[in-house]
Amino acid sequence: MSELIRNKAELQDGLDKLSGRVALVMTMGALHDGHLSLVRAAKKVADHVVVSIFVNPLQFGPNEDFDAYPRQLDKDIGLLDTVGVDLVFAPEESDMYPREPLVRIDPGPIAAVYEGATRPTHFAGVLQVVHKVLNLAHPDVAIFGQKDAQQLALIRTMVADLNMPVEIQSVPIKREESGLALSSRNAYLSEDEYIEALALNQALVLGKDAAQHGAGPEQVRTVATRYLDQAPGVKLDYLAVVDPETFEDLVAQDAPRGDRGLIITAAWVGPTRLIDNMEVTFHA
Ligand code: AMP
Repeated sequence: MSELIRNKAELQDGLDKLSGRVALVMTMGALHDGHLSLVRAAKKVADHVVVSIFVNPLQFGPNEDFDAYPRQLDKDIGLLDTVGVDLVFAPEESDMYPREPLVRIDPGPIAAVYEGATRPTHFAGVLQVVHKVLNLAHPDVAIFGQKDAQQLALIRTMVADLNMPVEIQSVPIKREESGLALSSRNAYLSEDEYIEALALNQALVLGKDAAQHGAGPEQVRTVATRYLDQAPGVKLDYLAVVDPETFEDLVAQDAPRGDRGLIITAAWVGPTRLIDNMEVTFHA
């Protein structure tokens, strides 16, 4: 059984009882098998696993779904118990933010594009909470999902630029058999929207196939974009082919540094905004 911890002071007490390597998995709850794959990866690389559950207000824009975001702590703890974790840190908002934070993290240029262009304050809010929870839990390793690839790139950049004493590891995207990437926001989809949402993964697969057959970044982008542009019920926000570390647009580059790329996309399916991505290798 995991120990539920509701504030910073208790967290320190809980951590003091653990010995050996500690891995941290940060979540906003409404857990699914994607989150559990992070926990399983954490268990493989550490003696103890701490999972945080906190719907971080700072990373939601004024017209986003902060209030509607699914909250189901008891169910989440039940799911975590099926895998086995040591501590579940689920603080109150007043404990995490006793007042409006005055010192803020500037996430820099990677946060200005794609997700950051549509959600201008999102990544500053993400890095603020990631920095805080890493400071509170001071794990040896922290595990994040490739589902949020731009977030992962930013966390790696923050840890490198601020010399934070933690190792960052990532876990591949967990998908349903249909191909849809697992997401807490999938709960918002109606039956019809669920079917429409499959187009995101299908577009990425088409792009990846094109790259396997020799297409370059621009052609890959065209193939995948065309598919989503004509997909019923889907309103494309962006689709791009980027460097997985810097998020620079590979289409705009004359000579990409390597052969690795990431197709990233965000789209509205009804009122729900979904993101997905897929790694590609270019065979020049
Ligand atoms: P969230 O609760 O949405 O903030 O996600 C918490 C962590 O789980 C992040 O590191 C996400 O990237 C990761 N995650 C969410 N969905 C998936 C998925 N389908 N596959 C892998 N990791 C995921």
